[in-house]
Amino acid sequence: MVEDQGKSLDMAEYDYDVLVIGSGPGGYVAAIRAAQLGLKVACAEGRETLGGTCLNVGCIPSKALLHGSEKFAEAVDGTFAKYGIKTGPVTLDLGAMQAQKADSVKQLTGGIEFLFKKNKVTWLKGYAAFEDAHTVTVAGAKVTARDVVIATGSSVTPLPGVTVDNDAGVVVDSTGALALDRVPDHMVVIGGGVIGLELGSVWRRLGAKVTVVEFLDQLLPGMDGDVRKEAAKIFKKQGMELKLSTKVTGVAVKGKTATLTVEPSAGGAAETLTADCVLVAIGRRPNVEGLGLEKIGLEVNKRGQIETGHDFRTAVPGVWAIGDVIPGPMLAHKAEDEGVAVAEFIAGHTGIVNHAVIPSVVYTFPEFAGVGLTEEAAKEKAKEAGTDIKVSKFPMLANSRAKTNHEPDGFVKVIADAKTERVLGVWCIASVAGSMIAEAALALEFGATAEDIAYTCHAHPTHAEALKEAAMGIGGKPIHI
Ligand code: FAD
Ligand code: NAD
Repeated sequence: MVEDQGKSLDMAEYDYDVLVIGSGPGGYVAAIRAAQLGLKVACAEGRETLGGTCLNVGCIPSKALLHGSEKFAEAVDGTFAKYGIKTGPVTLDLGAMQAQKADSVKQLTGGIEFLFKKNKVTWLKGYAAFEDAHTVTVAGAKVTARDVVIATGSSVTPLPGVTVDNDAGVVVDSTGALALDRVPDHMVVIGGGVIGLELGSVWRRLGAKVTVVEFLDQLLPGMDGDVRKEAAKIFKKQGMELKLSTKVTGVAVKGKTATLTVEPSAGGAAETLTADCVLVAIGRRPNVEGLGLEKIGLEVNKRGQIETGHDFRTAVPGVWAIGDVIPGPMLAHKAEDEGVAVAEFIAGHTGIVNHAVIPSVVYTFPEFAGVGLTEEAAKEKAKEAGTDIKVSKFPMLANSRAKTNHEPDGFVKVIADAKTERVLGVWCIASVAGSMIAEAALALEFGATAEDIAYTCHAHPTHAEALKEAAMGIGGKPIHI
C-alpha cells in the first residue's frame, strides 16, 4: 500500500509499478534495470525510435561521421601515403557516409527495442504529460504508475535572434549538421564546446573551411586549463580558424548565404563573416515544457533543471528524475548510471552514482579526455583546505606507441594531493584518450595514489603507458623522459 494525498492506493490499482518518461540513455536503462528487478515497467517515448538524443541525433551518429571522416582525411591528407599505401585519387561519396551513419543508428535504436521486448518493458508511443503524480497521459490515454521517472533529456539552446532551419541547411543545430547532404564551403560554428569541435572536425575533414566563434577566451569550458590551451593549438594546426573572446550578435540569411555579425565579447568593433552553413552549438537545455509539471507542483531551478536528492527523488513523492533534465554534466554515461541507480532506489535497494568521477571525452583527433578535478579546481580546493597539490605531465611524444603511430600531439597530466599523493584528476590528449581515461576513472573510484598507478604493470607498447609514466612523475621521475 502507498499513501497518495491522504488516500491509500493498492499497488494493483496502478497500471505499472514504474513509468519512465523518455527512452534516452537515462530512461531506457532505468526501464530495463527496473524490469530486471522484477517491476512492471512502461516507457513513454514520443520519438519514432527508442534511444533518445544519444542514439538518434547525438553520440552515435556523431561518432559514425567522426570515424568515417577520419578515414577520409587519412586517405587525402597523406597519412596513408606515409605508410606506403597508394590510393590514387580519393573522392567522397557523402551519401554512402551518411548511409553508414544511418545504419549504425538503426541497428542501435532497434537494439533498444529488442531489449525492451526481452525485458518485458512496454513502449508507450507518444509524449507524456502529468495529470497527477501517479497519472500521465500518453497519446490521449491515461496511464497510472506507482513511481514515475522523468528522463526527458535536453534540447539545443537557441541563440536569441538566430533561427535554425535544419531543412534549409544554412543555419543548423547539431541535428542539422549531422544530416547535411553537401560539404559546406565555409561553416561557421557558434560555440567552441564539444559539439562545435566534434562536428566542426567532421566537416573540416570532409573539405569545408571551418571557423569557430567562441564567446570565452578558450575552447572546451569545464576542461583543465592546459588541455584547453593545447586544444586551441591543435585545432589551429589542423586548419580551423578560431575566433576566441568573440560573440555573434546576429545572423542574416539570404538564399543559401548567411552573414554573421560578430564582435569582441568585451565589446568593440563589429565585423561580418559570410558562410554557407552556420552551426549553432552553444549548449543544451532541459526538456520540461509540456510535461505538465505545474499539475504536480514540481518547480524547476533557475537553469530550468529538475532538482533531486542523491537518490534522484524530486520534491514530489513518487516522482523521480535523471539524466540531462537534472543538474550535472549532460553526458550519456552519467544518464545511464543514474538510470541504473534510480531503478535500484525504486526497487528498495541502494543505487550508487559517484558524481565526482564522471569522465568526459571529446572525440576529435586527437581525443581530449578528463576525469576528476582540473588543476585549477584542485588548487582552489587545496587552498581552502590548507593543503597543496602535485602535478605531473608526460608528453605523448615520449610514448613509444604514439611515436610509432606518428601521433605526436598530446600529453597525460596527473593531479594529486601533495602529501598523500592520492589522485585527484587525470587529463589526457591522445589518439585514444577516451579509452585511456577509463583506467583513470577506476583509479579515482578506488581512491588510488599515483604510486598505485605507477606500480601497476601496463602492457607495452600502449598509449596507456603514458598514464603510468605521468603517475611516476608525482612521486619521482618517469623513465622515458
Ligand atoms: P535524451 O537522450 O535526450 O532522451 C530523452 C528522450 O525523452 C528523447 O528521446 C525525447 O524524445 C523523450 N521525451 C522528451 N519529452 C518527452 C515526453 N514528454 N514524453 C515522452 N518522451 C519524451 N554524450 C556522451 O556521453 N557522449 C557523446 O559522445 C555525446 N555526443 C553527443 C553528440 C551530440 C550531437 C549531442 C546533441 C549530444 C551528445 N551527447 C553525448 C550528450 C548525450 O546525448 C546526452 O547527455 C544524453 O542523450 C542524455 O540522456 P537522457 O536520457 O537524459 O536524455
Ligand atoms: P558546450 O557547453 O559544450 O559548449 C558551448 C560553447 O558555446 C561554450 O564554449 C560557450 O562558451 C559557447 N557559447 C555560448 N554562447 C555563445 C555565443 N553567444 N557565442 C559564441 N559562443 C557561445 O555545449 P555544446 O557543445 O552545445 O554541447 C551540449 C552538451 O552536449 C554538452 O553539455 C556536452 O556535455 C554534450 N555533448 C557531449 C559530447 C561528448 O561527450 N563527446 C558530444 C557532444 C555533446
